[in-house]
Amino acid sequence: MATLYCECKHSIWSDLWWTEQGAELIFLDNLPSSASYGKQVTRCPGCGRHLTLEILKSENYQPYGRSR
Ligand SMILES: [Zn+2]
Repeated sequence: MATLYCECKHSIWSDLWWTEQGAELIFLDNLPSSASYGKQVTRCPGCGRHLTLEILKSENYQPYGRSR
Protein backbone atom coordinates (compact mmCIF):
# COMPACT_ATOMS: atom_id res chain seq x y z
CA MET A 1 0.00 0.00 0.00
CA ALA A 2 2.63 2.51 1.03
CA THR A 3 6.25 2.68 2.05
CA LEU A 4 6.70 4.40 5.37
CA TYR A 5 9.70 5.28 7.48
CA CYS A 6 10.14 5.04 11.21
CA GLU A 7 11.76 7.91 13.04
CA CYS A 8 14.96 5.83 13.04
CA LYS A 9 14.74 5.69 9.21
CA HIS A 10 13.86 1.98 9.16
CA SER A 11 11.75 1.26 6.07
CA ILE A 12 8.30 -0.18 6.82
CA TRP A 13 5.68 -1.35 4.35
CA SER A 14 2.07 -0.81 5.37
CA ASP A 15 -0.85 -2.77 4.00
CA LEU A 16 -4.51 -3.43 4.67
CA TRP A 17 -5.72 -6.94 5.41
CA TRP A 18 -9.42 -7.53 5.00
CA THR A 19 -10.95 -9.77 7.62
CA GLU A 20 -14.49 -10.58 8.61
CA GLN A 21 -14.19 -7.78 11.15
CA GLY A 22 -13.14 -5.28 8.47
CA ALA A 23 -9.87 -3.80 7.38
CA GLU A 24 -6.85 -4.26 9.58
CA LEU A 25 -3.74 -2.18 9.11
CA ILE A 26 -0.56 -4.25 9.25
CA PHE A 27 3.12 -3.39 8.98
CA LEU A 28 5.86 -5.36 7.25
CA ASP A 29 9.61 -4.99 7.58
CA ASN A 30 10.76 -3.38 4.33
CA LEU A 31 14.50 -3.23 4.91
CA PRO A 32 16.26 -5.97 2.83
CA SER A 33 19.21 -6.15 5.22
CA SER A 34 16.93 -6.73 8.20
CA ALA A 35 16.52 -10.22 9.69
CA SER A 36 12.73 -9.90 9.63
CA TYR A 37 12.54 -8.52 6.08
CA GLY A 38 9.15 -9.21 4.48
CA LYS A 39 7.61 -10.40 7.72
CA GLN A 40 4.81 -8.78 9.63
CA VAL A 41 6.02 -6.69 12.53
CA THR A 42 4.25 -4.77 15.25
CA ARG A 43 7.39 -3.08 16.52
CA CYS A 44 10.12 -1.39 14.50
CA PRO A 45 12.96 -3.92 13.93
CA GLY A 46 15.39 -1.03 14.10
CA CYS A 47 14.50 0.74 17.32
CA GLY A 48 11.79 -1.44 18.90
CA ARG A 49 9.22 1.33 18.87
CA HIS A 50 5.60 0.18 18.63
CA LEU A 51 4.47 0.92 15.09
CA THR A 52 1.56 3.26 14.52
CA LEU A 53 0.70 5.50 11.60
CA GLU A 54 1.44 8.47 13.84
CA ILE A 55 5.14 7.70 14.15
CA LEU A 56 5.59 6.61 10.54
CA LYS A 57 6.12 9.08 7.79
CA SER A 58 5.36 8.31 4.17
CA GLU A 59 7.88 8.89 1.42
CA ASN A 60 5.87 11.87 0.27
CA TYR A 61 5.21 13.13 3.76
CA GLN A 62 4.61 16.85 3.77
CA PRO A 63 4.24 18.45 7.19
CA TYR A 64 1.36 20.86 7.36
CA GLY A 65 1.82 24.47 8.35
CA ARG A 66 5.59 24.48 7.95
CA SER A 67 6.94 27.58 6.26
CA ARG A 68 9.80 27.29 3.82
ZN1 LIG B 1 12.48 2.57 14.29
